[in-house]
Amino acid sequence: MKQAIMTAPGKIELRDVPQPQAGPGEVLLRVRRIGVCGSDIHVWHGKHPYTKYPVVQGHEFSAEVAAMGPGVAGLRVGQKVTAMPQIVCGRCGPCRRGDYHICDALRVEGFQAPGCAQEFFVARADWIVPLPDSLTFEQGAMVEPVAVAVHALGKSGGVGGRNVVVLGAGPIGNLVAQCAKADGAGAVLITDVSEHRLEIARRCGVRHASNPSIEPLAQAAGNAFGAQGFAAAVSGLAKGGVLVAVGVFGSQPRVDVGLVQDRELTIRGTLMYRREDYERAVGLIVSGQVKCEPLMSEHFPLAQYDQAYEHIERSRDRSMKVFIDVTA
Ligand SMILES: [Zn+2]
Ligand SMILES: [Zn+2]
Repeated sequence: MKQAIMTAPGKIELRDVPQPQAGPGEVLLRVRRIGVCGSDIHVWHGKHPYTKYPVVQGHEFSAEVAAMGPGVAGLRVGQKVTAMPQIVCGRCGPCRRGDYHICDALRVEGFQAPGCAQEFFVARADWIVPLPDSLTFEQGAMVEPVAVAVHALGKSGGVGGRNVVVLGAGPIGNLVAQCAKADGAGAVLITDVSEHRLEIARRCGVRHASNPSIEPLAQAAGNAFGAQGFAAAVSGLAKGGVLVAVGVFGSQPRVDVGLVQDRELTIRGTLMYRREDYERAVGLIVSGQVKCEPLMSEHFPLAQYDQAYEHIERSRDRSMKVFIDVTA
């Protein structure tokens, strides 16, 4: 079978490798679509702090069950699925309390373990998430980023009835804004310096989309949330507000801890997801509460993996979610 392997930053080779087989508790998947994500682009540039080369990428994907190893039940050959890409130890403190997504020994397929950029991929049955037939393979490959957004909102302590500002309208920001609406947020404001990305957010139903290089954030918040929101935004987070850091930071932002104390602010981090986030993500896509289509940009075949990155580079903010069509 064909496999795309990144041998060094910016260098992807297509090679023939033996087709893997499903062992006990494992499932052989025929990979259909892979979504290219921001962290993949860091790996392409050699700027991902936790990835060594060579690496087989691919962690946002959809597939069909091709065969099941001994002891696997509840799946059928031909079924549409995706799988969570985490490999965890099951024994450390976070794993024992159910927070396996921040396992002390966490490895992620496509980064610290081989990913699915190959025609067939073996996944552990427990980590497979079935997809309804009504989902397209493109939507199936977007369950992972939607699960990132679902998990991030879970970390906020609940957005029901609260005003939400999402800074950045790239794929993750867009999906966080959509999920915040689905979670019953009061009003959702998304900001970005890219008019193109703001337009895509509007197409996804996020009405308040503002460009801070044209309209100051305070003014945008005033328009979205009314006078009260305006006063809060002028001085940063509203009293009792919650900031969830979803993005990966290239630099180390400074935080005024005195302000955190005085305003009873909460700052939380969020990493990846758990199974329940994946399942909720599937439901949000099926119900149409999260729209994936406006984010879908271009497709490239597996043999042109490197051209997908070159395209992303060239088109910058105009490409949102680029897919690798592994098998037709
Ligand atoms: Zn990703
Ligand atoms: Zn662990």
